[in-house]
Amino acid sequence: MRCKNCQKPLEKDAHFCNHCGAKIVINRITFKQLISEVFINVFGFDKKFFRTFKEMITQLQVVISDYLNGVRKRYMNSFAFLAVGAALSPIIFNYYADDFIKINSSINSEQKDETRENPT
Ligand SMILES: [Zn+2]
Repeated sequence: MRCKNCQKPLEKDAHFCNHCGAKIVINRITFKQLISEVFINVFGFDKKFFRTFKEMITQLQVVISDYLNGVRKRYMNSFAFLAVGAALSPIIFNYYADDFIKINSSINSEQKDETRENPT
């Protein structure tokens, strides 16, 4: 068998080409496989994202000190993590926008009532 990218001969049962480093794809492309490759390659989403997210919530100081001390492989790239967060935040904000407006307007009306009762 030869590499489909560089045409060099491949070792038996190899998962990657020794010459160009391309991943060897033997199975036909399925929709599920395509979606997972989009998430991994385009968004950098894999187990690392969820691990980073979970540990950012449960033990933030450990993640930060690990990252600063060179433990990079364990966590998602910080700029990619920021980009994912920035991309998700408008979606999350829109989901809660009605509640946010309701809370904000109720706080405003309470303040108006207070200033009416206690004019300085
Ligand atoms: Zn190759």
